[in-house]
Amino acid sequence: MDPAKPDILALSREDRANLLMGMGWEPYRVRQLEGWLWKHGVRNFADMRTLPAALRTQLHERFFLPGLTCTYSQQSVDGTSKFKFLMHDGLPVESVLIPSKEADRYTLCVSSQSGCSLSCAFCATGTMGLLRNLMASEIFDQYLYANRFCDQQHGQRIGNIVYMGMGEPLLNYKNVLGSIDLLTSPTGASLSPKRITVSTAGIAKMIERLADDGIRVNLALSLHAADDEKRSRLMPINESNRLSSLLGALKYFYQNTGNRISYEYIAFQGFNDSEQDARQLVRLCSHFPVRVNIIEYNPVAGMSFVKSDEDRINAFAHEVRKHGIMITVRRSRGKDIDAACGQLAARPDR
Ligand code: SF4
Repeated sequence: MDPAKPDILALSREDRANLLMGMGWEPYRVRQLEGWLWKHGVRNFADMRTLPAALRTQLHERFFLPGLTCTYSQQSVDGTSKFKFLMHDGLPVESVLIPSKEADRYTLCVSSQSGCSLSCAFCATGTMGLLRNLMASEIFDQYLYANRFCDQQHGQRIGNIVYMGMGEPLLNYKNVLGSIDLLTSPTGASLSPKRITVSTAGIAKMIERLADDGIRVNLALSLHAADDEKRSRLMPINESNRLSSLLGALKYFYQNTGNRISYEYIAFQGFNDSEQDARQLVRLCSHFPVRVNIIEYNPVAGMSFVKSDEDRINAFAHEVRKHGIMITVRRSRGKDIDAACGQLAARPDR
């Protein structure tokens, strides 16, 4: 494949259609091509069997058709699977397939960037720096690969998508929206937007933009601390996006979309897991309907945070719950394969 040619997956549907028809092909050939690209996920023109050989040759000569190569996969004892992919330029990206407790539903955690620029103090991905934004098709292709795997291994399709892998989705806004379009479109994966959650470290103006653009997916804020001082120590992005501006943006998002909002909260022993921390969190839950997910921390080598013990997590959750707030404690999945929250770092040996 030759990356000097235009990437056919980066064109809009309209541009692909106009190009094919400009080459003299009928509209039904356009539909066939779209089916091969997004329904069947074929990443080689030669394998698009229903297209005439002349069209396959023309496409091959004119366009670049990039794909992801899965170079490493690992299965956890708890049923979680992690995939490492290389993109056409050799940069890494990772996805994690997570079964529900009953293994009757699978959630795929996708990455939107290779690496991440936000340097959260507890996160392995942040140590990589940002390598580059993913194209919409590269986000979608993580789904295609994992969905095939899920079907073959578990006889099921992926039910939910969360943008919680490598990267900050709202810093790759256009391509994340493009990938949501592919995931929800009848010509793509036909998933309901209600099954998709975009998780952000918190960029107020981009949250407002999601609302203005009428995006119908759920939104999760990686909160992790309920006061600015502690949050800034965990997440440098908080310096420019204080809690008051994030609350304002989330309220705006809720008022304009009615979409579900959740707070993700990793519990760190002795840092953000006291009763007082819980009461501060309760105050942040009074502005719009929100559910809280407490996440068990997975220690990352070289980082000083310690995971809260079970008693402290339970006491914290009890304090929040008694104010009528919906709160779930999520035991971490895939810890033994570094697939848990904050652990994706595309180690070069894997
Ligand atoms: S937690 Fe998310 S936003 Fe923060 S460094 Fe890691 S990947 Fe980036």
